[in-house]
Amino acid sequence: MKNQHLNEVMEQVRAIDGDQAEFIQAVQEVFESLDPVAEARPDLIKAGVFKRIVEPERQIIFRVPWIDDNGDIQVNRGYRVQFNSAIGPYKGGLRLHPSVYIGIIKFLGFEQIFKNSLTGLPMGGGKGGSNFDPKGKSDAEVMRFCQSFMTELYRHMGPDCDIPAGDIGTGAREIGYMFGAYKRIRNEFTGVLTGKGLSFGGSLARTEATGFGLCYFTNEMLKANGKGFDGQTVVISGSGNVATYANQKATEMGAKVVAMSDSSGYIVDKDGIDLDCIKQLKEVERRRIKDYVDTHPQAEYHEGCNGIWTVPCDIALPCATQNELTMSSAKELVKNGCYCVSEGANMPSTPRAIDVFKGSNILYGPAKAANAGGVATSGLEMSQNSLRYSWDFEQVDNRLQGIMENIFASCDQAAKEFNLEGNYMAGANIAGFLKVAEAMKAQGCV
Ligand code: NDP
Repeated sequence: MKNQHLNEVMEQVRAIDGDQAEFIQAVQEVFESLDPVAEARPDLIKAGVFKRIVEPERQIIFRVPWIDDNGDIQVNRGYRVQFNSAIGPYKGGLRLHPSVYIGIIKFLGFEQIFKNSLTGLPMGGGKGGSNFDPKGKSDAEVMRFCQSFMTELYRHMGPDCDIPAGDIGTGAREIGYMFGAYKRIRNEFTGVLTGKGLSFGGSLARTEATGFGLCYFTNEMLKANGKGFDGQTVVISGSGNVATYANQKATEMGAKVVAMSDSSGYIVDKDGIDLDCIKQLKEVERRRIKDYVDTHPQAEYHEGCNGIWTVPCDIALPCATQNELTMSSAKELVKNGCYCVSEGANMPSTPRAIDVFKGSNILYGPAKAANAGGVATSGLEMSQNSLRYSWDFEQVDNRLQGIMENIFASCDQAAKEFNLEGNYMAGANIAGFLKVAEAMKAQGCV
């Protein structure tokens, strides 16, 4: 980075948060994009915006005790990082996964600030979760965990303060249990969590939104470069919420999805993945992706997840988890003719993988823009809850599509303004940042 102030702030982050590798990676990536902004806007440096934006407004860490099916007490650690409320109440998901620690939650919360800003909706950035692993737990155990988690978190949230949502490990079941617990403790029925069931305030199209939105954004990026999904071969990592609905929309747009994965391995089906089977296995029966080949003998299953990037494709959509796409995988993709990588997961490509994309002129859709459809639709769920009204699927989906088109346009325009045409990562970071930065400056030193 050329800008001395950004280097100093980065040094400070390394000095006090050196043990939070993912958070440092996220800040570094954003700051590198903001280098020309810092040069052009000394007023933002004077207002302390760069120094302030890397420090969460509030971090809450708490004990989550719960009783398992054997009657034994288990203890997990809960987190909520309320990162930035300059443009609206904190908004961001809750991740339940054994790998969760403060560095993961802070990286996700930091990214969320810019993502939420890009949607054009009034939402600040936050994130939370726990190192609890819902995998292999009974419904009753998941419920007891969620109730205990809410027994603490409820006092820090509210429809005008902080509105959590789903993420890895937190789906409709977990949100339902958390909403029930919140409602009971507070004795109020408000839109305090998003991703709720349809019968109690959830929005149509929220389930599909991140995957659909990813395809809407990617389609805009392809169109701007004279291409489209029609007739293209696509590889999608993961087989959770984002991956499933990215597959559905890409297929509807005329592409063929030939590979998907879970954390154990990946499947390749040259005939195109049978999505109904994936939904049945992963959403209903909570089984492993390898079971797909039992009913689809033409498909192959391979152990280990990295190999998915060796499957030849035109378009790759990483939709599993952070840092899942490394430099060597990026090189494999390029070698096999892939020309577009668009991110459904948060920070799935390592910095060196991104360097490979840039060096090979790959169309690269960064997560904070490409996967913003989920939180955008959560914002629409909040609006419907406030109105005490529900829009139909088509209305929500149309708004989502419009938002994703606008996000692409903002990234494209910001990149051009700073002479970085085609660098949508820089465009996303700059456009997302500037709106929040202006609000922080206007609100003074808080
Ligand atoms: P889910 O829990 O529904 O699914 C995650 C999927 O990724 C599962 O299939 C899981 O497999 C798989 N997975 C986990 N680790 C790996 C790995 N190392 N390699 C391959 N597959 C792996 O989560 P979501 O789909 O909701 O989230 C996926 C990503 O998208 C996350 O980064 C999340 O932060 C991001 N995101 C999600 C949004 C949403 O609306 N849900 C919104 C914006 C971003 P297994 O079943 O074996 O665990």
